[in-house]
Amino acid sequence: MRKKVIAGNWKMNMLPNEAMAFIEALTPMVKDTPNEVILCVPYVDLFYSLLTSQNTNIKIGAQNMHWEEKGAYTGEVSGKMLKSIGVEYVIIGHSERRQYFAETDETVNKKIKAALANELKPIACVGETLEQREAGKAIEVITEQTKLALQDLTKEQISNIMIAYEPIWAIGTGKTATSEDANNAIKSIRQEIEKLYDTQTAESIILLYGGSVKAENSKELFTTSDIDGGLVGGASLKVEEFSKIVNFQ
Ligand code: PEP
Repeated sequence: MRKKVIAGNWKMNMLPNEAMAFIEALTPMVKDTPNEVILCVPYVDLFYSLLTSQNTNIKIGAQNMHWEEKGAYTGEVSGKMLKSIGVEYVIIGHSERRQYFAETDETVNKKIKAALANELKPIACVGETLEQREAGKAIEVITEQTKLALQDLTKEQISNIMIAYEPIWAIGTGKTATSEDANNAIKSIRQEIEKLYDTQTAESIILLYGGSVKAENSKELFTTSDIDGGLVGGASLKVEEFSKIVNFQ
């Protein structure tokens, strides 16, 4: 059986002192959960968050990285740097990075490869725009993004990747995909992985849903056949709300 994973994406929010206070408050609220708990925090919060989460079941991730190990890339942070301080996870190809920072399926693929080479676990994001959905192209778009994100990766490498299906129209808008729509989209990603690899790989990969997940809709979404948890933006900034999502059962 696949485990459930709840990952928070703080985006560009939380100062280090706020991050530490949040993790201290969250720790007792989630200590008994069977689910994996991840917080993807801004770069400046990483070290403080890692220290505060030591000896807890809360794992820490970054929200982006560069694909090169080092060099003349002013303002960038590499996978090797993230690994060196103990980061375990990294979000790759979030739609906000694709939209505002010109990330493409090609850079997403390069970053996933670099993350894996540095023993980081990527949470790769895919999702369609409202126009693509209304044109009936949602499944085509997300299966193509999945294929390109995973290009040249072996099935052994796939076991260290999670994919988050995040319909762009549902991110930060308060609009959530129905659990049936979200489950169907995620099922189509699983089927694509079965085509690219095999049934066992498809059955074991963790696939998350993201897009206005809240305490009140988390149980319905996360108890469908194919959704293995969530990537949570806005609601991951409120400790009680986030703890309820983690403890959705
Ligand atoms: C996200 O940032 O990945 C996200 C899903 O945001 P929200 O939950 O706020 O829609």
